[in-house]
Amino acid sequence: MQVVAATVFVFALFQALTHGEEFGYDGNIGPEYWGERYRECAGKHQSPININVLRVKQVTLPDLVLVGFDDSIDDVHVTNNGHTVLIEVQNEPHPRVRGGPLDGDYIFSQMHFHWGDNDTFGSEDKINHRSFPMELHMVFFKEEYQSAAEAVKHSDGLTVLAFFYELDRHQHPAYDDITSALVNVTEPHTSVVMSHPFSFLNILPYDLKRYFTYKGSLTTPPCSEVVIWLDFEQPIRLTHGQIEAFREIRSAHGKITHNFRPIQPIGDRVVFYNIDNNYYIYNEIDEREETTTGKPSKRKKGRSSANRLVPTIVYTMTFTILLLFSL
Ligand SMILES: [Zn+2]
Repeated sequence: MQVVAATVFVFALFQALTHGEEFGYDGNIGPEYWGERYRECAGKHQSPININVLRVKQVTLPDLVLVGFDDSIDDVHVTNNGHTVLIEVQNEPHPRVRGGPLDGDYIFSQMHFHWGDNDTFGSEDKINHRSFPMELHMVFFKEEYQSAAEAVKHSDGLTVLAFFYELDRHQHPAYDDITSALVNVTEPHTSVVMSHPFSFLNILPYDLKRYFTYKGSLTTPPCSEVVIWLDFEQPIRLTHGQIEAFREIRSAHGKITHNFRPIQPIGDRVVFYNIDNNYYIYNEIDEREETTTGKPSKRKKGRSSANRLVPTIVYTMTFTILLLFSL
């Protein structure tokens, strides 16, 4: 009898460890208790945070380079891991990201979602204390660490591209494939292959130039402080029904009605806000000019800064003349 009990216990423990069900969002396995079991969850540079737009430091970072985001990927797995819905790709090479605040290339690992009981909250980070009904996290690990498991041991190991959702009256067609896959993974630890090819760019907002960036942590145990966060300003728009489909997903304890961690103290951290320097030249030059090396030439930027200089000189002269007259 004791042997059976011990076996059952060991099996339950194994289940918990392998499936990561040793944390939840309510009761004595809820976020307030994570720090007791996972020391890093009580750290000083945790995520999520509230981003106070009046306190951000405005910067113009190098262009973010998204590689493979418009590829049509056909072996996409949608999994209910008991905490969230995971989207993973099998095809190589995986999409990757570089540039912006990142030093080096980061390879796609997985993406997943956080949501709330209703449409008034559910996002993890907040902007000026505003919550959004859902948030997408696209997780990438630094190429030099070769795997996500190794990357979490390094302070610059991961980057997460985070996107907020807001409500729209119109269905977002690219999300129909995701929500129809959800119906087949309502039970924990189930997985399906998506019925149609999938492209990252199709599920993202139009503006990928404006984002907030700061250093933080995983928002689930073990809460490792290894994440360079990029929170994009423009939300993705879904209908109530499309968001509601996520609330049907179940864990071992019933429906996952919410799976967001409350905001954590910002401490001594600075949040940067990236503004695109080239905003005003979008429609100026369309053709890509090639140099003899085959790389895009730098003339584009040179011309644009010359163009910006002209109005600056005009304004300065006008201001000087007005000043002289007022004396
Ligand atoms: Zn997440």
